[in-house]
Amino acid sequence: MKLEYQMLIDGNLCEGRSGRRDKVINPANGQVIAQVPLADKEDVELALGAARCAFDKGEWPKISLAKRKDYLLEISKAILDNAAEFAQLETQNAGKPIKESTFMDIPSSAKTFEYFAHNLKRYLKGRKVELESCAESFLYPEPRGVVVLIVPWNYPLLIACWKMAQALAAGNTIILKPSSSTPLSALKLGAIMQKIGLPKGVVNVINAPGIEIGSYLCSNSKVDMISFTGSKEAGEQIMSFASKNIKKLIMELGGKSASIILADCDIEAAVNASLCSIFLNQGQMCTAMSRILVEKKIYEEFRKQFVEKAKRIKLGDPFNPETQMGPLISSGQREKVISYAKEGEREGAEVLCGGKIPKDPKLKNGFFFEPTVFVNIKPEMKIFQEEIFGPVACLSEFSSISQAVELANNNSFGLACSIWSQDLEKAKKLSMQINAGVIWINTYGSFYNEAPYGGFKGSGFGKELGREGFLEYTRLKHVNCDLSEGGKPLVSQWYAF
Ligand code: NAD
Repeated sequence: MKLEYQMLIDGNLCEGRSGRRDKVINPANGQVIAQVPLADKEDVELALGAARCAFDKGEWPKISLAKRKDYLLEISKAILDNAAEFAQLETQNAGKPIKESTFMDIPSSAKTFEYFAHNLKRYLKGRKVELESCAESFLYPEPRGVVVLIVPWNYPLLIACWKMAQALAAGNTIILKPSSSTPLSALKLGAIMQKIGLPKGVVNVINAPGIEIGSYLCSNSKVDMISFTGSKEAGEQIMSFASKNIKKLIMELGGKSASIILADCDIEAAVNASLCSIFLNQGQMCTAMSRILVEKKIYEEFRKQFVEKAKRIKLGDPFNPETQMGPLISSGQREKVISYAKEGEREGAEVLCGGKIPKDPKLKNGFFFEPTVFVNIKPEMKIFQEEIFGPVACLSEFSSISQAVELANNNSFGLACSIWSQDLEKAKKLSMQINAGVIWINTYGSFYNEAPYGGFKGSGFGKELGREGFLEYTRLKHVNCDLSEGGKPLVSQWYAF
């Protein structure tokens, strides 16, 4: 049965004005799973108008924080009530093993709404600034206005929920644009928002390829802020569109993150976590640790264990609970990964496992690719410098901390780094030398609603989550009040004739 979902514009579930529809593909078997509406400029204009009106004239930015909290809690509950269907959609549409969707993506999505519901009052509290003058100043975080949320296909629901929960908790109205490869969970969430009865126009969900509507959406003067997660290339385009009308931007872009495995680490834990850090979600993670740097003393042992286990990863139907790796998102993405693998070999790197499409006939219609490990890497190689966004690990050895730092930092991205050592002081000291926005010590991929996340350099700017991420969705107003005796400040004397 084909699934049917509609867009949400101004409180109505609807088709696009043009009546155009797009096919949504299951990457595990290439079959069409859904027909979804496609927005064009007219729909974008309606969604922007609705969000603008809901912000400028509607109740959402002004309702009591207690009521806003209740709405967010209701959304969180609705996600959990529909958890099984959401997990199936993510698995069917993004090829994620069902274990990942069920235990990671969906509960975390609900939890983010819950967290910001419980903390919005605390985060939105104004504060007094102590002044030396006879005056007082107060700082008030206010919502920014109409916020466009553009999300990628690798964590379709989770990243949408991060952005929605923060933007709504802060009092903004929103237009969510999922990736047109994976629109199903966002469209379903739109339907849930409508059922919950959020004031109309507060949440709008539209679907279209960024290339079709991006310029119109992102340069529009009705938009106050764009929160984007996706590739560096699309981020650059969006920044240039947004420069037409000044707006606040958050750019969460790509990565080419490094793990630094020190000789004194717990080697088994480091191997297992490193497998997870590059092969989870088929390596389609912005924080994928695609460069694994191992101290010379343990390099051979680490390499042996890592490759042995990489070879045993179970590829298969993402709905099978035993499956550890599903398909890549599309044939285009697989072509990109294959071309990097070929380029790696051409440049002289050696493939120790994978590097090809699996032979299993059961997988022949999906976009599968084997977990791949390269060694004999030179730092300037493309596979070591560019984001592949697939299950391709580069193993490299280092002999000194300074060499590890040099290797890790010599890259145009700066999203994350994972350091493995039993000497926590040494690891913390090393973390200070790494040019990346998130450093994990003896762990990988821990995201917390309480703590900000975001990259440096080519990985973008701005934070998501935590107080700092939440405040990105607000603007700070400074109210200053003179307290001079007799109510006459110095400024009123200057022209007192
Ligand atoms: P993408 O940049 O192709 O697309 C992301 C979103 O942007 C989609 O909704 C797409 O339709 C839209 N888009 C594309 N071009 C646009 C344009 N010109 N104008 C407006 N919108 C446009 O990325 P993707 O292939 O969906 O996702 C993979 C990328 O996302 C990787 O580079 C990955 O590292 C990055 N990513 C980053 C983070 C992070 O937190 N830093 C998280 C997840 C993914």
